[in-house]
Amino acid sequence: MNFSDLALAEPLSRAIAEKGYDTPTPIQQAAIPPALAGNDVLGLAQTGTGKTAAFALPILNRLAANPKHRLKLTTRVLVLAPTRELAAQIAASFTAYGRYLKLSVACVFGGVPIGRQERALFPGVDVLVATPGRLLDLVMKGACDLGHVEMLVLDECDQMLDLGFVHDLKRITGLLPKQRQSMLFSATLPPSIEEMAQRYLKSPVKVAVQPASTTVERVVQSVIHVSQTEKLALLANLLVTEDVVSTIVFTRTKHGADRVVRQLSAHKIVAEAIHGNRSQAQRTRALSGFRTGEVKVLVATDIAARGLDIPAVSHIFNYELPNVPEQYVHRIGRTARAGREGRAIALCAPDERPFLKDIERNIRMQLDVQALPPNFRDLVGLTAKLIKASPSAAEPPREERDSGRGRGGARPGRDPRAVVHADGRGPRREGARDGGGGRDGGRDAARDGARREGGFGRPEGARPQGARPQGRPGGGFGGQRSGQRRSPAGR
Ligand code: AMP
Repeated sequence: MNFSDLALAEPLSRAIAEKGYDTPTPIQQAAIPPALAGNDVLGLAQTGTGKTAAFALPILNRLAANPKHRLKLTTRVLVLAPTRELAAQIAASFTAYGRYLKLSVACVFGGVPIGRQERALFPGVDVLVATPGRLLDLVMKGACDLGHVEMLVLDECDQMLDLGFVHDLKRITGLLPKQRQSMLFSATLPPSIEEMAQRYLKSPVKVAVQPASTTVERVVQSVIHVSQTEKLALLANLLVTEDVVSTIVFTRTKHGADRVVRQLSAHKIVAEAIHGNRSQAQRTRALSGFRTGEVKVLVATDIAARGLDIPAVSHIFNYELPNVPEQYVHRIGRTARAGREGRAIALCAPDERPFLKDIERNIRMQLDVQALPPNFRDLVGLTAKLIKASPSAAEPPREERDSGRGRGGARPGRDPRAVVHADGRGPRREGARDGGGGRDGGRDAARDGARREGGFGRPEGARPQGARPQGRPGGGFGGQRSGQRRSPAGR
C-alpha cells in the first residue's frame, strides 16, 4: 500500500510527500482507512510507529472535505495528550501535515501563562491539542467551549491514566457532543483502557502494531552491576568510551536527575535535566538544545521523556532502573528509532536486582552482563575528587532542594543548578528569566505534571499517597502484573 491508495485530499498528499513519507507505516495502513470511513478507532501503538499521522491525516482529510466557519471559543477537533512535550509535538505534526489547508491549530498545556492561550482560543480553532488539566482550567474560565467537537483523540491513554488524569478525562468527555468520531491510542491494553474504550468509543475498529518488541529486538542491551555510589564514575566513563552521539540518561526521581547533571559537570560533561519540577521554558530549552545537538546528554525522568520523538539518540543509560518493568521498554524505545541501531546500558545496583528480574521477565530475555572497566577503582577515586573540587556539583542546601516541591513553575532564583555548563561558567539562573512561577504557570504545571509527580525522592509519576491505583495488569509481554510497583530495598 502507498499513500495514493488512501485517496487523501491533494493538499494533504502534497504535505506528506514533502515530509518524505512514501509508504504508510503499519499503524497508518491499519488505522487510516477505517478512520476515513468515519469509524471510531482503538489503536494499540506507541510513539515512533507513526501513530500521530495515523489519526491526524484522516482528521485533516475530514476537515478539508467539510470546511466550516470557526465559531468563537470552539474547536472542531480535540486531541488530549498526557505531557506538554507530547502535546506540542502532536500540534506540530497537525501544522506540518495541514500546511496547505487553511486551518488553525492551537496547543494548550500547563506551566506557562494562561492568557495567551485564552486569546488563541477566542476566535475558535479547527484543532486543539491539550493536556487535560490546562484544558479544564480554560473551560472553567469560559475561554473554551467543547460543545462543537466533532472528532476526539485520546493519545497515550495508558500514560494519562498512570498520571491520574482519569477524572479530568471524565469531566472533559462529559462536555463533548455525543455525536462525534473518537479515537483512542495506547501503548498497552490493560482492563482500565478497555473500560475507557467501552465508555468513550462506539463499535471501534481495533488496530494494533507491536513496536515494543521490534524496538527491543533492535536495541543492543546490556547491564553493568555497580554500587549506587559508584554509578556516576561509571556513567562518566561510559559517556567518553562508548561511541555516544547523543544519549538520554534515565533516573527515577527529579532530584536524582538534577544530581547527575551537577556531578557530570564536574567531569566537564554538559548535560541538561528534564523533569516535572522544571518550568516549561526550561524543559523546552533543554529539549531544543538536545535536538540541535548542542547538548548531547539529556538526564530525564520517565514522565518527561515518554513519547518524545528525537531520532538521533544513540544510547540510553538506565542510571536507575524503573520500578515498573514496562517503563524499561518505553525508555529504550527512545533509541533505535526510524531503523537506526541503538544501545541501551542499565546500571544496576544490588538493591535494584528485583527490578532487573522483572524487566528481564517482561522482555523475555536476559540482558548481557557487561564487566566494569578494568581501571574502575581509579575512576571512582577520580570522580570523588572531581566532585569534591567542583562547587557546582555539591548538593544544594536542603530547603533549596525542597523548594520546588509540587510547584512546577520555576521561581526566580530557585533550582538554579539544574543547568551547568562545561566551561566552568557554573549554574545558570534559570528561574530569573523564565517567569514560570506566576499563578497560572505554577498552578497549572502542578496539575499537568508536578502535582502528580510527587516530591523529591518519590519516583516521578508515582501516585500521591491515597490516590486510587490505576493498575495496568496484563499488558506488555506477560509475566508480572505490569501495574505493580516495587519499592527498592533501603530507599
Ligand atoms: P510518531 O509515532 O507519530 O511520533 O512518528 C514517529 C516518526 O515517524 C516521526 O518522526 C514521523 O515524522 C515519522 N513518520 C510518520 N509516518 C511516516 C511515514 N509514513 N514514513 C516515514 N516516516 C514517518
